This record gives sequence, structure tokens and C-alpha cells, in this order.
Amino acid sequence: MNKKIGVIKGDGIGPEIVDEAMKVLDRIAEIYGHSFSYTQLLMGGASIDVNGIPLTDETLEAAKESDAVLMGSIGGDAKTSPWYQLEPSKRPEAGLLALRKGLNLFANLRPAVLYPELKGACPLKEEIADRGFDMMIMRELTGGLYFGKRSTEKVDGVLVAKDELTYSETEIRRIAKRGFDIAMKRRKKVTSVDKANVLDSSRLWRKVVEDVAKEYPEVTLEHMLVDNCAMQLVKDPAQFDVILTENMFGDILSDEASMVTGSIGMLASASLNETKFGLYEPSGGSAPDIAGQGIANPIATILSAAMMLRYSFDLDREAAAVEKAVSEVLKDGYRTIDIMSEGMEQIGTKEMGDRICAYIK
Ligand code: NAD
Repeated sequence: MNKKIGVIKGDGIGPEIVDEAMKVLDRIAEIYGHSFSYTQLLMGGASIDVNGIPLTDETLEAAKESDAVLMGSIGGDAKTSPWYQLEPSKRPEAGLLALRKGLNLFANLRPAVLYPELKGACPLKEEIADRGFDMMIMRELTGGLYFGKRSTEKVDGVLVAKDELTYSETEIRRIAKRGFDIAMKRRKKVTSVDKANVLDSSRLWRKVVEDVAKEYPEVTLEHMLVDNCAMQLVKDPAQFDVILTENMFGDILSDEASMVTGSIGMLASASLNETKFGLYEPSGGSAPDIAGQGIANPIATILSAAMMLRYSFDLDREAAAVEKAVSEVLKDGYRTIDIMSEGMEQIGTKEMGDRICAYIK
């Protein structure tokens, strides 16, 4: 298989962690007989330094022409970096928002996996951590409360603020289909999260999700109210496979789910549009505090590349090989500084990438 991958190394630790993910992709290409070509794209602070703005039209076009984009992280230290002297629309983060919008990425995927070897970092009770968990939070990204009309006005001398929450059947259907497609590649269970006991938008959500479920008879669908889901995530996270939810609920629940894993350097993510295209990036930021030291954990970016193999290229076997290699490296006791614990061997960014490559069979 030949694929064109746009690569945004970004700022801070971005270039260090993306280099390791590319190394892993090259190893996969070598073993499984694929060919991946890379186009380097500038975005964020790196683009400001060269072009004066965080995202150029040319970069957006080049991203659109790729089969998928692999990204590190962008941004710098808000207190010291000259990027933050610029007006907000010219800062690094504005480039990322414009890129997501320009690529029409409406579905955000964040896996939350507790590796048995890292369960010491899990803040939950031991008996819960012992059971482990492996879930995927699928969040609608371009609709709902964050994109509705908003206003603040005085009514009878009192300030009143309004935020509109709108979802159309079309918006719900396309994310639901994506959620069920993802479940088909996993343990075939979807938990659709809403607040259907109160909100009309949630009642429509539930109705459309049920409708879509008919096209996926192999997938088990359950509905859960968002307040219950927030509790279940800390009480019994092992019950979840795919959590499918709207924008604001997903924002909150995906952060909660990632925090119960306990390690930011392990958190992959993907944002998808209606085609097979996706933007794959670690959930963490550019970590300016450790940039350039060769100690950042590249695993989140490597696992994001594995998601690219699975969801954009349908290379499930290759994705599983990367994930297995990550597990084995952890099992054999190798750790970067952020996940280091007693008795383990601490290694740097490059060595972690090399070891994962060596374990890919
Ligand atoms: P951060 O995620 O960069 O760092 C938080 C802490 O986690 C730091 O101590 C850092 O050293 C550590 N950390 C993060 N990733 C790590 C890794 N892979 N290995 C080891 N340790 C890691 O968050 P922050 O410090 O709040 O933000 C720094 C910059 O990143 C800001 O400019 C922010 O806007 C930006 N940011 C970008 C993205 C993105 O590109 N999608 C996301 C979040 C933050």
C-alpha cells in the first residue's frame, strides 16, 4: 500500500516525538511491504517563525492532499515565548483550530487504556485498576453548545447570558456511523451518552443513534445518562468499549477518562472527517519544559500513528503490531522519565522509539 502522510512536527517536544513515530511507520512499511511518503508541513510556532502566521493556505491545501496527517504538538511557554506577544488570532493555537476547521474534522477519538504495567499511575482503587480498561471516547467536535449562538444582554436591568445547543439529525447520524464503524473494529459495544431525561437535543441524539444501530446488528448499543457515565468511569471503567457522545459531554468525559490512566505521555488521539482522512496527534502539549532534552515520551505519538494505520489506512494487523510492541517494551521494564517507577530502566525518547521498532514483528 502506498500512502502520502502529511507531517506537522510542531514545536517543543513535537519534532522529537514525531521522529520516533515516523521511525515506527518506516519499520511497519519495511516489514509489511508498504510505502509511506512524508510531506513536512509547518504549523503553529514553527510556521509563525517562517511565515508570520500559524497556518498558511498552502499548508492547509497540502494537508488536504495527504491521505492522513501525523502531528506532534504546537505552542510554547505562554510567559516567555514571543509567539504569545501576537494577537490571539496569530498565535500557535489559532493555527490548530483553523486546521481542524479547514479539514472538517467532526469526530474526535481518544483512547483511554490502562496498561497493566502502568497501573501504579492509575488514581483509582487497586481492585478497579487491577481489572484494567481499554475504551475509546468518540466525541462530536463541530456542533452543539460550543458552536451555537451566544449572547449576553441586560433584561430588566439584569445581565442574562445565553448559549444555544443545536444538533441536526445529519450531524448526529454521521458521528454515530463513525462510532459504530470504530466499534466494529473493537469489542463491538457502543455506549451512547446523553441527557435524554432533560434535553431535546439528547432525545434526538438517542433516536438517531438507535436508528443507526439497526445497520450494525453485531454491535451492542446501550444508552447512559452523562451524570451516570461520569460516575461509572471511576467506578467500573472496564465496562466501556466505545463511548459515543456530543461535544461538551465528550470534552469533559474524555479528560476524565484520560486522567484515570494517569500518564499524559501515553495518550493518543485522532480527529476524523467524512472520508478516511484523519489528523493523528498525542493528547498532550508541546512540553516546553523538557523540549530538546531527548527525554519526552514518544509513545502517545507512536500510538496515534497506530490509529492512523487502523482508521485511515485499514491496516488493522499493522496497527495491532505497533500496539503489541508498545506493551512488550513496557512489560520488559523500559520507561521514559514521565512513567518511570522503581525497579524499571529509564530510557530516552530515541531509545524508546528504537526499542518499539525492534519489537515489531
Ligand atoms: P503539556 O501537555 O505540554 O505539558 C504538561 C506536563 O506534561 C509538562 O510537565 C510536560 O513536561 C509533561 N508532558 C507532556 N507531554 C509529555 C511527553 N510526551 N513526555 C513526557 N512528559 C510530557 O501542557 P502545557 O505545559 O500546559 O502546554 C504547553 C504548550 O502546549 C502550550 O503552548 C499549550 O498551548 C500547548 N498545547 C498544545 C496542544 C496541541 O498541540 N494539541 C495540546 C495541549 C497544549
